[in-house]
Amino acid sequence: MPGQPHRVTVIPGDGVGPEVVRSAQRIIAAAGVAIDWETAEAGAEVFKRGDTSGVPQATRDSIARTRVVLKGPLETPVGFGEKSANVTLRKLFETYANVRPARELPGVPTRYAGEGVDMIIVRENIEDLYAGIEHMQTADVAQCLKIITRKGSEKIIRYAFELARREGRRKVTCATKANIMKLTEGLFKRVFEELSAEYPEIVAEHLIIDNVAHQMAKDPAQFDIIVTTNLNGDIISDLASGLVGGLGFAPSGNYGDDVAIFEAVHGSAPKYAGKDVINPTALILSSLMMLRHLDESDAADRIEDAVLVTLEEGRAVTQDLARQTGGDVARAASTTGFTNTIIANLGRQPATVPPRHGSERPSGEARPRPRWTYGPERYASMEEELVGADIFIESDDLPLMMGPKLETLVGDAFRLLFISSRGTVAYPGTSTATDHVRHYRCRFVAAHEGAAVTDADVRALLGRVAVAYPSWNHVEKLRRYAGEDGFTKAQGQ
Ligand code: NAD
Repeated sequence: MPGQPHRVTVIPGDGVGPEVVRSAQRIIAAAGVAIDWETAEAGAEVFKRGDTSGVPQATRDSIARTRVVLKGPLETPVGFGEKSANVTLRKLFETYANVRPARELPGVPTRYAGEGVDMIIVRENIEDLYAGIEHMQTADVAQCLKIITRKGSEKIIRYAFELARREGRRKVTCATKANIMKLTEGLFKRVFEELSAEYPEIVAEHLIIDNVAHQMAKDPAQFDIIVTTNLNGDIISDLASGLVGGLGFAPSGNYGDDVAIFEAVHGSAPKYAGKDVINPTALILSSLMMLRHLDESDAADRIEDAVLVTLEEGRAVTQDLARQTGGDVARAASTTGFTNTIIANLGRQPATVPPRHGSERPSGEARPRPRWTYGPERYASMEEELVGADIFIESDDLPLMMGPKLETLVGDAFRLLFISSRGTVAYPGTSTATDHVRHYRCRFVAAHEGAAVTDADVRALLGRVAVAYPSWNHVEKLRRYAGEDGFTKAQGQ
């Protein structure tokens, strides 16, 4: 309702956090946007009090009420096993879309100045190796599960296409490692290809992530929106920040269906804390994404123009930028001075920057309901068959000894197809080059081609293997879905 202040949870955070957050709050107030800030805490102090989540209940309650967060950086304690409070916040509120625009800014020197770099990285924010499911399978073999789901992929990919539509962008590039991880990254790629058909006006391309990194360094202006899985996105979004001036200028928004969290990409930069020297631009640009999310686009545009004028004129530059431009660091603007200049520039238009006001926010407009492809009907009709099992074993036995031993106990239902060491077949046959690490995957399949395997067969097999090898540590059932293998071959199979 017009005139009603927005309610926003503000987390000043650690290190330089309170200084950059204060700068953004002052500019927002000067632009005339009324916000009721609910100040909440998370991060270092909370960990120190013994709250191992780093995010107290009062903060969670505030976010559940306001559903919008402006957040300073939070320190992640190193070495005593606590999870990052940043990641916890993103996950608790299912902010599945991490959106990071990287746009060339005036007055900020880069190798690509003048090329018109203006891309948005849309990173899946919940799944992948960041699901955080890790185990030591033996004392010396660690495993991290890479979880990619059709639902998670579809949500983020649709988000990217909708963002392209809303912003009038031309192209969405899907970046994966589907050539190597055919099932996980491959699922993401397949979902991208399926959904792209619903957005015929947008160019949809798939590139392998390493090629994306190469192309970003070579010709970054070719990219428009890049959508990708969590780890890929983590890396290339930092790369994108580097293309346009670095951490002091990199904003981000984390969007879910209910909650959105806005934060700078940089961390708490503790050595600058309390010195009034840090560059607040990244947090200010993040707060513009927040204002657009709150439907305060006019104010966001005015602030963005004032930031661009300030950078363009270069009369007030913070130390980091003075260093980059070879200016006099001793005479650089303080955080407060830089903020004052932006406020003084409200109402002015930049002279050299083409107007382009993004609106990186979830779509509220009425559109035909998307056709989700992960509903119960999909699974009700899907044919699924059990065809074997991979049993993982820790042992000092070499595969040459282990193979014949396992073959004597497979029973009537199974045969041992292979033993692999770190994904490469080590039995039958041997490769002199394959190093062994006391950790083997043993693949058992139906004794006769096409024969059925039951759950009871797998349990009985495991019982027999466990007697011979009590140090078995993991079982994975092998299934086929709609006639397709739900598992990959071993290297050399
Ligand atoms: P950092 O981003 O805090 O600082 C690295 C360096 O980048 C700084 O020393 C400084 O030279 C420069 N820098 C960063 N932000 C700047 C700015 N706004 N203006 C000018 N220069 C800037 O990274 P770090 O030192 O690796 O991490 C410090 C702490 O922050 C760690 O505890 C880390 O876990 C945390 N962190 C939090 C977040 C987050 O809250 N989203 C992100 C990254 C790191």
